[in-house]
Amino acid sequence: MAPSAISNGVSNLANGHSPKLEFETYYNLINNELTKTAKSRHNINPATTEPNAEVPVSTQEDVDKAVAAARAAFKTWSKTTLEERGEKLVAYADAIDGHKDDFAKLLTSEQGKPLAQSYVEIGMATSWLRAFSTMKIPDEVIEDNEDLLIIHTNVPLGVVGGIVPWNYPILLAVGKIAPALITANTLILKPSPYAPYCNLKLAELAARLFPPGVLQALSGAEDLGPMFTTHPDIDKIAFTGSIATGKKVMAAAAPTLKRVTLELGGNDPAIICDDVDVEAIIPKLANVSFLCCSQICMMIKRLYVHESIYARFLAAFVAHTRAFKVGPGTDPDVFIGPVQNKMQFDKVRTMYQHIAAENWTPALGGDVPDPDPTGKGYFFTPTIIDNPPEDSAIVTEEPFGPILPVLKWKDEEDVIGRANATKTGLGASVWSKDLARAERMARRLEAGSVWVNSHFDVAPGVPFGGHKWSGVGMEWGVLGLKGYCNPQTLWLKKGV
Ligand code: NAD
Repeated sequence: MAPSAISNGVSNLANGHSPKLEFETYYNLINNELTKTAKSRHNINPATTEPNAEVPVSTQEDVDKAVAAARAAFKTWSKTTLEERGEKLVAYADAIDGHKDDFAKLLTSEQGKPLAQSYVEIGMATSWLRAFSTMKIPDEVIEDNEDLLIIHTNVPLGVVGGIVPWNYPILLAVGKIAPALITANTLILKPSPYAPYCNLKLAELAARLFPPGVLQALSGAEDLGPMFTTHPDIDKIAFTGSIATGKKVMAAAAPTLKRVTLELGGNDPAIICDDVDVEAIIPKLANVSFLCCSQICMMIKRLYVHESIYARFLAAFVAHTRAFKVGPGTDPDVFIGPVQNKMQFDKVRTMYQHIAAENWTPALGGDVPDPDPTGKGYFFTPTIIDNPPEDSAIVTEEPFGPILPVLKWKDEEDVIGRANATKTGLGASVWSKDLARAERMARRLEAGSVWVNSHFDVAPGVPFGGHKWSGVGMEWGVLGLKGYCNPQTLWLKKGV
């Protein structure tokens, strides 16, 4: 629907209109109506520091309206068949594909990642929708005899609040939308205030396909999340974000006993054994250390390299990483864009300042950018720190920026202890040609996903989540679907 069709800030999209979506103006989507708010705000393009478009600042009233619409929609949506819901998810994937150039440009302008990485994120999101369109939780027959049939089944929870961070706004929104909707729940999306644009357009597009109230989106300021987590009529919060916020979400959900899934921060170790083919593994390792300017929960954040290959490995790793071009995501040769926002810029800059203050040895990079990035963008040179102390901030904290410690190890027992010596437990990996040894080590790592000779592989059918402070519950796969359901046991007495 063209923006000219919006009168008094409201437009109804429910009547099968499907002209091309415009990507200039941004609204909330409540009950399939585009709605404005009294106040608006905007973000900054991290590559240029120029302002992006205005977005709504939602109030409690907007949340109440969306929740009421979601609850009303649940009554009918929960009666649809899996096939009907699956068809809608596939049509949604097709519609996103039909707008992928606009979404890619928008994602790069709000998130900063290179265009090629934006296309990958969109491609993942649509393949997630297609994969979830046929995914179901099979009923389990616990007992079946001539007197009694006992079935364990799963029923939808109701209204889900999907709270999304700013690093992968499309994939992480769709990663909640697809499992929530296929299990017959309704969902209200709450994008990060730092990256609301793609999420609002995802909802606007959904209004052309889904009945009113099934999928909605509200943008707002930092006070909007608590309006979701405390709302008495939201049944579940599916949250992705930092550990600190995850704890607040869990506490806020307690008075209304909401279900929560928490996908939180990580500090992933990768252990490189002495028998690896250094040249063969370096490209993959560098990729999963610096992709998206290292702003991914499951990037490698501590790289433990066996001392017998350490010098050769470090030289090759530095040479490979040095070749990564840093710059605006619109430049086709760029691999490392800016960090996403000023808060993150300041946080990562503090980590770079530690290099001199703490006497760390940079094997690559280490330049501290100007404190005022206005007009320049939020850029950092990729930086590799050569064997810093195990208790230094670069080892113990999640920098969420392109700075990585490489650390030496010699004893298997010792390196497993160091890898596990953290409150986080999201991902971890072991790299070795000896698969039996690698698997033995992998099984001892305390993380929700552990890879051998890889890192950051994800798939829609594979559950993903964190141990310890990296999360509660898992998303994706059949296990993830269960997180959007109430388990139910049916006792069916026969012949009464
Ligand atoms: P964040 O915790 O600051 O924000 C995440 C979301 O929570 C945003 O939408 C924000 O507005 C909202 N929020 C803020 N305060 C809230 C509150 N009190 N109640 C409810 N919602 C609230 O995280 P971020 O800075 O956007 O994202 C970066 C962090 O997310 C990193 O730590 C990263 O590791 C983590 N992350 C985890 C995963 C995962 O799947 N495990 C994926 C991506 C990012």
